[in-house]
Amino acid sequence: MNHAKSEAAFERAKRVIPGGVNSPVRAFRSVGGTPVFVREANGCMLVDIDGNAYIDYVMSWGPLILGHANPLVIAAVRDAAERGTSFGAPTEAETELAELVISMVPSIEKVRFCSSGTEATMSALRLARGFTGRSKVIKFAGCYHGHGDAFLISAGSGALTNGVPDSPGITEGVARDTIVIDYNDAQGVWNAFARYGEEIAAVIVEPYVGNMGLVLPLPDFLPALRAACTRYGSVLIFDEVMTGFRVAPGGVQEREGITPDLTTLGKIIGGGLPVGAFGGRGDIMSRLSPEGPVYQAGTLSGNPLAMAAGLATLRGLQNPKVYPHLEELGLRFALGMSEVLTRHSVPHVAASRGSMVGFFLTDGPVTNVTDAKRSDTALYGRFFHAMLDRGVYLAPSQFEAGFLSTAHRQLDVDRTLEMADAALTAVFAAPRGSH
Ligand SMILES: *Cc1c(COP(=O)(O)O)cnc(C)c1O
Repeated sequence: MNHAKSEAAFERAKRVIPGGVNSPVRAFRSVGGTPVFVREANGCMLVDIDGNAYIDYVMSWGPLILGHANPLVIAAVRDAAERGTSFGAPTEAETELAELVISMVPSIEKVRFCSSGTEATMSALRLARGFTGRSKVIKFAGCYHGHGDAFLISAGSGALTNGVPDSPGITEGVARDTIVIDYNDAQGVWNAFARYGEEIAAVIVEPYVGNMGLVLPLPDFLPALRAACTRYGSVLIFDEVMTGFRVAPGGVQEREGITPDLTTLGKIIGGGLPVGAFGGRGDIMSRLSPEGPVYQAGTLSGNPLAMAAGLATLRGLQNPKVYPHLEELGLRFALGMSEVLTRHSVPHVAASRGSMVGFFLTDGPVTNVTDAKRSDTALYGRFFHAMLDRGVYLAPSQFEAGFLSTAHRQLDVDRTLEMADAALTAVFAAPRGSH
């Protein structure tokens, strides 16, 4: 496969954009090689500027559950654009999308729109702090909640540690307020509450983790978070930026029957345009400005193009056939990938929930980030490139989930699995270090 134009485009980009990209994972650092620059995409297919086509399992990292350039979404955006791109004044589309979100997500009574998932989590945490009058937040190692300071802390695998910043530029004060615990460590959560209970404003969690690869909660974990937050008067925040509308119409909270106090949303809710949202209990949301004292705002919040794309996407998901179809497709991918890896004697664990899929190249179980890091990332890199050469675009990192859409058909998944078989044959035939 020829990537000459992408290589030239990357060289040019690197001169003017740090690392050549506007979000780090796009740079292919963890799999090596040059990122492919995209020309266009349609359905489940991505086409790069050299003219190579790929079956896409990144799907813009989650938003495109109806596929690339879905005709209904494009028509809605075009229609909205013709009436003006931004007003800085309320529109009915915002209320319509709010009503639809509230009808779908069990715990949400009121919702506020912003422009990214990062904004949603930052704002939800500020609201939780404003509501409780407390400062500390519990997060889990390996969970990603956007790039807000309080969340860029993961103090490794200790059962309970005060955070150390993950990035220069985050102050010690911020780190001191973030308590990091291993995902699935329910006892660690109880211990933290026993020690700091009256100081903990919120627990924030990816209820199914997508950002260390797909890692699922053990049966006691989410119920323990709910019980501890209730007992100590802390705010339970489910970060469903990735899982919202993805694993079920109402996200993980619907699937698992656990009710958080606040929920953060993004990705699918914007249908491929920049949107985030946070919502939840009416008494908490009413503390938000201008109804209450907790400030939050945005020039482009509730943007009419973004609302139109979100509405078209969520309306497309009302078809009762959508989620059963996606569930089946996800299982087909995960089981099929597991079969192929077994055929090549590669230790692995694979899973799916709805249209979210993942596999780790390590023998399991994978219940937290320490387990996930045991994966053979060098092998993943070689597999990734062998798949790319065969027209399949997987996430350029072992520690990311994969996404299916209504535009993926069974035959696309089956073709992908054939390519995986061929890719592994090639990987094991080639000398190490080549891709
Ligand atoms: C993507 C993601 C975010 C951040 O959203 P952005 O729109 O990239 O700022 C936050 N939380 C989770 C769980 C995510 O997957």
